[in-house]
Amino acid sequence: MVKIISSAIGYPRIGEKREWKRALESFWSQNSSKEELLATLEGIRLNNLQKQKDAGIDLIPVGDFSFYDHVLDTSTAFGIVPKRFDYTDGPVSVETYFDIARGNDGAIASEMTKWFNTNYHYIVPELEGSTPKLVENRPLNYYLEAKEKLGIDGKPVFLGPVTFIKLAKDQEETFETRLKQFTPLYAQILAELEEAGATWVQIDEPSLTSEFSAKELEAIQAAYTELKNAAPNLKVIVQTYFEKIANYEEIIKLPVHGLGLDFVHGDSLSQLKEFGFPKDKVLAAGIVDGRNVWRADLDAKLDILDAIQVHVDAERLIVQSSCSLLHVPVTKKSEEQLDPIIRGGLSFADEKLEEIVLLKQAVEGGKDAIAEGLIANREGRKTLNESSYRQNAKVKETVENLTEKDVNRPAPFAERIIEQDERFNLPLLPTTTIGSLPQTAEVRQTRSKWRRGEITNEQYEAFINAQIDKWIAIQEEIGIDVLVHGEFERTDMVEYFGEKFAGFGVTKFGWVQSYGSRCVKPPLILGDVAFSEPITVKESVYAQSLTKKPVKGMLTGPVTILNWSFVRDDIPRVDVQNQIALALRDEILALEENGIKIIQVDEPALREGLPLDPSKKQAYLEAAVYAFKLSTAAVENDTQIHTHMCYSDFNEIIQSISDLDADVISIETSRSHGEIIEAFETNTYDKEIGLGVYDIHSPRVPSKEEIKQNIHRALKTIHPKQFWINPDCGLKTRQEKETIAALEVMIEAANEIRKEQLEAVKS
Ligand code: GLN
Ligand code: ZN
Repeated sequence: MVKIISSAIGYPRIGEKREWKRALESFWSQNSSKEELLATLEGIRLNNLQKQKDAGIDLIPVGDFSFYDHVLDTSTAFGIVPKRFDYTDGPVSVETYFDIARGNDGAIASEMTKWFNTNYHYIVPELEGSTPKLVENRPLNYYLEAKEKLGIDGKPVFLGPVTFIKLAKDQEETFETRLKQFTPLYAQILAELEEAGATWVQIDEPSLTSEFSAKELEAIQAAYTELKNAAPNLKVIVQTYFEKIANYEEIIKLPVHGLGLDFVHGDSLSQLKEFGFPKDKVLAAGIVDGRNVWRADLDAKLDILDAIQVHVDAERLIVQSSCSLLHVPVTKKSEEQLDPIIRGGLSFADEKLEEIVLLKQAVEGGKDAIAEGLIANREGRKTLNESSYRQNAKVKETVENLTEKDVNRPAPFAERIIEQDERFNLPLLPTTTIGSLPQTAEVRQTRSKWRRGEITNEQYEAFINAQIDKWIAIQEEIGIDVLVHGEFERTDMVEYFGEKFAGFGVTKFGWVQSYGSRCVKPPLILGDVAFSEPITVKESVYAQSLTKKPVKGMLTGPVTILNWSFVRDDIPRVDVQNQIALALRDEILALEENGIKIIQVDEPALREGLPLDPSKKQAYLEAAVYAFKLSTAAVENDTQIHTHMCYSDFNEIIQSISDLDADVISIETSRSHGEIIEAFETNTYDKEIGLGVYDIHSPRVPSKEEIKQNIHRALKTIHPKQFWINPDCGLKTRQEKETIAALEVMIEAANEIRKEQLEAVKS
């Protein structure tokens, strides 16, 4: 019987009940010592390894564990610590490591940004002015730990030089120069691992999913040749994920033992068919979806493995997940509260390991070898697929019968805005906020009391209303033009809707790491999505009843709800997106019917969902625009639709932003240092727009001068009639006092600029 290898690429760090998060936060708030922290983290780490071993995984990753982030681990292993932090030489201390990630009294944290197209955020390495050297061989330490403590001969995993350099902030040196600088350090890591007895190594190079120039490819070839020479006997796997490799023909020539390809999120199979696979290499096939929570269709997966074996012999095949399991929750074991029909269709990290092992056994011994597992797998999937969750005939029919009218507002913006101006009669440069207002400890505590059933619905509603009373009065007092109710009833902008639309499910422990100790619990979109009853109408209508000024309704858009959920994989994502859009349309119409005539539909995730493969971008954007319009187009001309997006690189999608046909867009700006305005300079935007005029990410109250400066800069390119004045998003994370003070300054600045504008018109 042919033997094949099962492997894991990476495993969640956070523990089954987020023990990891609690340990970190307890240390940060000085409720536990460094020794306690190290001991708890070691316990979690070893337990994770033991679980993978018990599951029957052959190649167990070590070194994928992190105290915060694996990119920061790589920086600090090379002694790369920004000058503003305390560091001279040797291994970077735990304290300094956390300071880089979180900032301290004297120095701001390093930037963080999204890890490819996921919702995981990494700490951006700051290479400028650094003199990298290997100050700590992390992979080696973790390799030795696993061997000594558990007798596991693990597979050290670390971020490769190409990706590390590509992700870094570096205006100083070219990619080629940096690669030359880092290769000897990587060579040292590998040589020491080889000497310590390691057999396998996984070097993560997800950046290879994007295009490289000929010069860069040459440099990559040279770097990996140097690595090969440094540790000729190590079995090095260059691991890619999230897409197919862009320069496939060149990359398969690298002098390494094997390549890891993603067969779920990229069409790697077509590349195998077209260009073949080198006879001297091992293929680590990412077969089980590492980014979703649904049970794999084992029959379909085995077909893919058959197709792969046309090009690669079974002896040279490794079966694994498509990417690290970091992006899925740990185990479905603890989700007893879920309907068994739903539970039976799920597969979290631990269950995915079982699937990997089953697939391995089936390749080795045929389907008969896994007969029992296969029956359970088919049953679980079939029961969910055929359940009423997924067979809502009405939803299907509505989606099928959509026409142009469903996605186009009755009149173009130029006509609508006249009716809207008449209706709202807002001053020049109207002022507003982005939706949420400070959530005090009292707000959060009362919400959890209500969730635990310790207070009644009536008591909770009265409490929320009291918050709304207070903040409508504050906003009127400050002099804001378009008010918000404050989102006090919401914890999370996606989960809040997920709990109330049909077709969604909520897990108890389905957490995944988002950044640092911060985890998110994405809702499950498990069935056909439909509107059941109004979600936001009560609070919005109550807020509106307290004031003559317009109150903005506040919703999360279809693209964002989709991107921040675990989406069923039995029908196309765009179909799910349109179902969500239709459910939101009903909510928007309910708001409108109840007198809410300004409605904001937030789409902060629109940009981040952009596919990595350039050839897929257009279709994604078209579908996103379609869904947004589907949810918003049904309103009357004098109902004003707003949307909001967080800071991003907008140059590539500015046309699509315009195509959304929202009357007003607000964009988080402060962190961008003018780049966003540049995007709008080169592309003329004809609708109304608010660019955040101050950064809300610190408690500091901005000065009037700096706000005025930001507004003046925007008004150089945007006509005053198109411009709105608002802060950046996320006020819920701030304290009341500083928020009120900052908004007061913003209104003063707005009033002064209005005066300037009027005088300019007069003279
Ligand atoms: N309406 C939300 C808020 O103001 C938007 C959040 C976001 O931009 N991510 O907090
Ligand atoms: Zn935002």
